[in-house]
Amino acid sequence: MKKIVSAKRIVVLAFLAIMVWSCSKVPLTGRRQIRLMPESTLIRASSLSYQQVLDTANIIRSGAQAEMVKRVGQRIATAVEAYLEQEGLESRIEGFQWEFNLINDNAVNAWCMSGGKVAFYTGIMPICKDETGVAVVMGHEIAHAIARHGNERVSQSLVVQGIATGVDFGLMVKQQPETARRVASMAAGVGGQAGMLAFSRKHESESDEMGIMFMAMAGYDPSEAPKFWDRMNQIGGDRPPLLLSTHPHPDTRQEDLRKLLPKAMEIYNQNKR
Ligand SMILES: [Zn+2]
Repeated sequence: MKKIVSAKRIVVLAFLAIMVWSCSKVPLTGRRQIRLMPESTLIRASSLSYQQVLDTANIIRSGAQAEMVKRVGQRIATAVEAYLEQEGLESRIEGFQWEFNLINDNAVNAWCMSGGKVAFYTGIMPICKDETGVAVVMGHEIAHAIARHGNERVSQSLVVQGIATGVDFGLMVKQQPETARRVASMAAGVGGQAGMLAFSRKHESESDEMGIMFMAMAGYDPSEAPKFWDRMNQIGGDRPPLLLSTHPHPDTRQEDLRKLLPKAMEIYNQNKR
């Protein structure tokens, strides 16, 4: 009898150890999250997927807009890295290799894959209007990657598909690179509606919150964020852009952004250029 109890205790302790190991906190918001796979694996798959997107896309390599996307991306990435280092959270960007590309495509879209692989579509540029508008979107998309929403989303999808936690995604990258690439694309919300997994509203709100702070850290005026989302909603119409499909209700979003603005303005005033 005693033996059984102690065996049980060992199982419970082992389980707790795994939970603690795989449980981490999202920077800035402090939300606890459990991940089912190492982020490094998702980063490897994303890198393959990103290359595949670039191979088939019409990339704009020079000119004011392409340079702007790269400049804003680098500025926000640098600010985020400094913040994470200061907070002792640099492991969050381990293995990141930032890339920022502008793709010639009418889609009103932008995304950031695990590991810092960013794409903007020319369709979103008129709504961004200027560099600060690009920074609103950039901050939001980079936040998805820093918060590891892709990992959570893939983990959930694998569980839903019944593949559950037994799946060895690392092995998948090696043996079924095509499947791994598809999963990584889904994680970042790339590839249109088909097979697309939406970020949850919780993820969207979290990215709004982190994104507005990130842009402020990089010296971009965060009071432009509510204005950008306003412009975004105006083009919504009957067929809202993919970027808006699962986003919080416009009124809720505006209200949330307004609440975050005083803190973001404080950060901005310290980092203004
Ligand atoms: Zn989003």
